[in-house]
Amino acid sequence: MKQYDVIIVGGGAAGFFAAINIAEQNPELKVVILEKAKEGLQKVKISGGGRCNVTHAEFIPQELIKNYPRGEKELLGPFHQFMTGDTIEWFEKRGVPLKIEDDGRMFPESNSSQTIIDCFLNEAKKHQVEILYSQNVSDIQPLDEGFEIHTKDEMFQCETLLIATGSSVKFWKLLENLGHTISQPVPSLFTFNINDKRIKDIPGVVASHVEVSVLGTNLYSEGPLLITHWGMSAPSILKLSAFGAVELAKLDYKFQIEINFIRQSFEDCLEELKVLKQDLAKKTVFKSTQFDLPKRLWHQMVLASNMNEETRWADLNKQQLEALAGQLTKAVFNVDGKSTFKDEFVTAGGVDLKEINFKTFESRIHKNLFFAGEVLNIDAVTGGFNFQNAWTGAYIASKAIAK
Ligand SMILES: Cc1cc2nc3c(=O)[nH]c(=O)nc-3n(C[C@H](O)[C@H](O)[C@H](O)COP(=O)(O)OP(=O)(O)OC[C@H]3O[C@@H](n4cnc5c(N)ncnc54)[C@H](O)[C@@H]3O)c2cc1C
Repeated sequence: MKQYDVIIVGGGAAGFFAAINIAEQNPELKVVILEKAKEGLQKVKISGGGRCNVTHAEFIPQELIKNYPRGEKELLGPFHQFMTGDTIEWFEKRGVPLKIEDDGRMFPESNSSQTIIDCFLNEAKKHQVEILYSQNVSDIQPLDEGFEIHTKDEMFQCETLLIATGSSVKFWKLLENLGHTISQPVPSLFTFNINDKRIKDIPGVVASHVEVSVLGTNLYSEGPLLITHWGMSAPSILKLSAFGAVELAKLDYKFQIEINFIRQSFEDCLEELKVLKQDLAKKTVFKSTQFDLPKRLWHQMVLASNMNEETRWADLNKQQLEALAGQLTKAVFNVDGKSTFKDEFVTAGGVDLKEINFKTFESRIHKNLFFAGEVLNIDAVTGGFNFQNAWTGAYIASKAIAK
């Protein structure tokens, strides 16, 4: 039986960040990380396409929380304690400067997630955090004071336990046995599969700002839209997938979306098309792209409106004008399934947030049991927000534990 002051289960982003901060703030505590894999930080390694999108350049807590479909309300207080600016400072102080990209995402200047991993491993060593790999925690028993933790071959005891196991269905079952409630896990941050003639031949086309809604629901988002080989992606779609994670799972990922490619009403668009009919009378509709749309997308919208490549503006009848206005402002597409967004994907679901004290990230059910990261029912849209949740929870828990 091995005895520790603090045991951290899970050597991922939240687990390492917590362990280092606990050991740094209170060097007297004997801290260990139990990690089931042969090495830790595997998600950090592949994150952000191998560059690790560490956080996001959003420095107002009230704005930052809007990126969390689950956890928005609960993270406001924690972000006042530790948020993006603190993350930047934390890494910078430890020799890892971060840089901001045009869309606000922040990466290590090295452009390599290995820099973050090296930083964590060095800091853990410096502060004498023990790391035990190949330790798959299979049981936790609360004691009168502290916890007993079982892996296949070993037993551990500690006063304080921090769970940072990420989206592990097996571990959520174990936490249910401890009396915690788990919100059903469903995927978040995915792209939409759409088999439609209008987009079949134009992968790679980007509409810079569209409005998308899911018919029959209140789900709505706006932003860039990317046509892919299998459907649609980019922030407008990824935001819907995150905010609609639970609702879209219930629909078995079969639903209809309506896209307004030009963010104008049908009526305003129709009026503009009528003016163009006069002004461009002799030109072909196909060749006179309008509304700042990508040329190839305009072509598809025109062909889908009962016209061919030769149709001239002057020849458009009422029905064709209305069809084109409809394609531009309320084009309906059938979504049939989802695909993984490779840069970043997360699972919605986890420990019910009502069971957590967000001043400390301690369980309201068991004293001295803490949680951080994706094990909680918190997740975000893409852009570095998921790691920020891990850093914030881990830091606040570390402060409470180090005391
Ligand atoms: C491909 C990909 C790219 C991503 N890119 C980004 C990005 O650029 N920016 C961003 O903000 N987010 C990104 N994310 C999301 C981000 O990686 C997660 O939100 C984050 O890793 C969560 O941290 P965590 O510590 O809670 O969980 P994890 O990092 O998943 O760590 C959990 C750890 O617990 C261990 N564990 C599980 N069960 C047990 C057990 N029974 N016993 C012992 N150990 C156990 C696991 O092996 C793992 O090491 C990405 C996700 C993916 C999949």
